[in-house]
Amino acid sequence: MKALRIKIYGVVQGVGFRPFVKRLANQCNILGSVRNEGFGVSIFIQGETDNVDNFIQYLHQKKPPSAYYEKIELEPAKTIPQLSDFVIASSKVSEKIGLMPTDMTVCDECLEEMNNPHNRRYLYPFINCTNCGPRFSIIEELPYDRPTTTMKRFQMCPRCESEYKDESDRRYHAQPIACPECGPQYFLHPEIEPSVKMGIPDWAIPIKIASDYLSDGKIVAVQGIGGFHIMCDANCESAIARLRKWKCRKSKPFAIMVKDMNIAREIAHISALEEELLQSPSAPILLLKIRENEMISDKVAPQLAHLGVFLPYAPVHHLLFKFDAPQILIATSGNRRDEPIAMTPEDAMSRLDVADSILWHNRPIHNRVDDSVGFVANKKLFLVRSARGYTPARFSLPQDGKKVISAGADMKGGISVCDGNFIYPSQYLGELSEPMTQKFWEETVDKFTRWLKVEPDIIACDLHPDYHSTRLAENLSSKWNVPLVRIQHHKAHCWATVLEHQNFEPALGVVYDGTGYGDDGKIWGGEFFYVEPRTAKCQRIGHLDEIILPGGDSAAINVIRMAYAYLIHSYQSADNIPNIPLLKELSSLERQGIERIYSVWNPPITTSMGRLFDAVSAILSIAYKNEFEAQAPMLLEAKAHEIPIQEIISMKPYSFRIFEDDESKQILDIRPMIRQICDEIVSDIPVEKISARFHRTISIATIKIIDIFSNKLNT
Ligand SMILES: [Zn+2]
Ligand SMILES: [Zn+2]
Repeated sequence: MKALRIKIYGVVQGVGFRPFVKRLANQCNILGSVRNEGFGVSIFIQGETDNVDNFIQYLHQKKPPSAYYEKIELEPAKTIPQLSDFVIASSKVSEKIGLMPTDMTVCDECLEEMNNPHNRRYLYPFINCTNCGPRFSIIEELPYDRPTTTMKRFQMCPRCESEYKDESDRRYHAQPIACPECGPQYFLHPEIEPSVKMGIPDWAIPIKIASDYLSDGKIVAVQGIGGFHIMCDANCESAIARLRKWKCRKSKPFAIMVKDMNIAREIAHISALEEELLQSPSAPILLLKIRENEMISDKVAPQLAHLGVFLPYAPVHHLLFKFDAPQILIATSGNRRDEPIAMTPEDAMSRLDVADSILWHNRPIHNRVDDSVGFVANKKLFLVRSARGYTPARFSLPQDGKKVISAGADMKGGISVCDGNFIYPSQYLGELSEPMTQKFWEETVDKFTRWLKVEPDIIACDLHPDYHSTRLAENLSSKWNVPLVRIQHHKAHCWATVLEHQNFEPALGVVYDGTGYGDDGKIWGGEFFYVEPRTAKCQRIGHLDEIILPGGDSAAINVIRMAYAYLIHSYQSADNIPNIPLLKELSSLERQGIERIYSVWNPPITTSMGRLFDAVSAILSIAYKNEFEAQAPMLLEAKAHEIPIQEIISMKPYSFRIFEDDESKQILDIRPMIRQICDEIVSDIPVEKISARFHRTISIATIKIIDIFSNKLNT
């Protein structure tokens, strides 16, 4: 006989964890109890030694798909002779709150029920269970319980209630439990009476009609888990053109939702890991390399090698396809340009006027949460936008610290709140240049501080004096009457990476970015740091060579001007630049303007890697302008993808020089590379090859600088 006390930290609440533990205990002949705690879940187990060992093994192997263990602590305990059962004990009221569950894609069992004409939830778009369904998006307060979600307005019918209360049912304590009799419904705006009998239950009719609209080439706004999508047929050029015009997006790519994995495989190259991620409970949008195909209009992502792809994740998405919507749909965020996505039906009706129809529901979304976006490299997922399915998350600190609200930057904004033990980053919020996003930002700060019961000791913000987020942080600092700490943009990137990877040993950080206000007032973006997480030391140890930034921020749009600055920088004088096609695209007035900046006192200076990628794209005449953020570098990358990877890694890099400045920083001088690139343009080497070799050179140069500094550290 043996007894253990087990503490599990992580995502173990709201994911069907306690019923799982009870089933496991019954299978293994274990007595004891399980209960929710502030940190996660605590379990007491007692049984024969073999049974206890089996239980521990299965606890790791068989956990519910959405559970995530941060840490498990095992501690021997005294056996209790009078124990006769394994029970789910009621939660201890705790000051500290465990991790909030994230929204989960509909599970296979629920899908099967939804497709079964004999099931009472046949074609019901709000089907869910303890393993799936909405969570974060509907939570108003903690602890997570039906009365603290937006489901509180729906009174459970007797059948739902008995499932909810039955420990052996797969909907035991599924807070969003619902059925056609008692739960939320979908509606169409404008309303329409179907002219023919459709032979499906009433609750599915609005979805069937929306699906027909999509097949007819119409644009439909669809309310899902965390907000609205705007959808249309990905092969209907007239609908795409209307959408582009309305969104003021000339060429920025749209994400697509595809019917199933078979279709996804037809249009994109998908690795086993990518397949797994697309079908995971978090179901992110993945950037996938597109195959040549006839199924998607080339207006969806003009000239790009990659496209954002996701699979249906809400029951309503599955139903749209079941009712024969086009197999590939554009499913772009329900907003115009940089505003936050529409969250309420009223909001959608007033803002999304491009939609011919709005498919909305009456289960209120409390927390707006966009789709997450990521890509796979080196067999790992990298999230470029963390939102639905990944938020809220939390990260441990190397040691306990102060309570902090951090403001984030202006582009792709987000906040984080630290309770002294963990950092909780918010979901992606959007562009802070938009007043509506600023309001969303303030609401999010309020919610996170309330949920986490944090009264901040410090407010942290970006060093940039003109960021909207800086101004909002200044407001917070005076509201709470606490100090404001300004942190350099790329140092913040570096720290965020350290926390994400939970590695607190001294490290070298490489941050390649477009723009960030530097400690010295220059525009940084090609930076090397040495960090010591335990002492909070972060030292700039190297960077891309400095160059003037012609026209300040507008250089990020008119990349041809940046290219010309690099040419002058590399050839010392305009007269020495070889005759490459780019020169014909610049008027002599523009050229003189840029040349003159060199003689100006105190011109804007940058070390931005983003601007170098812009410049090379323009030097190769791939793009002279960024019509959307990073378009020129993306087109440049697309060219490199034409070359097989084996060929790229055997390429000899272009020449570059690394030198040490008078502050012992390693400086990467790429002027020799620019001159070689121009020579190759003149000798008609294909741009695909030049682009590939450029990417190769930057990676080799990066490793070289890391090597130099590592050697310095080791001697
Ligand atoms: Zn389910
Ligand atoms: Zn019901």
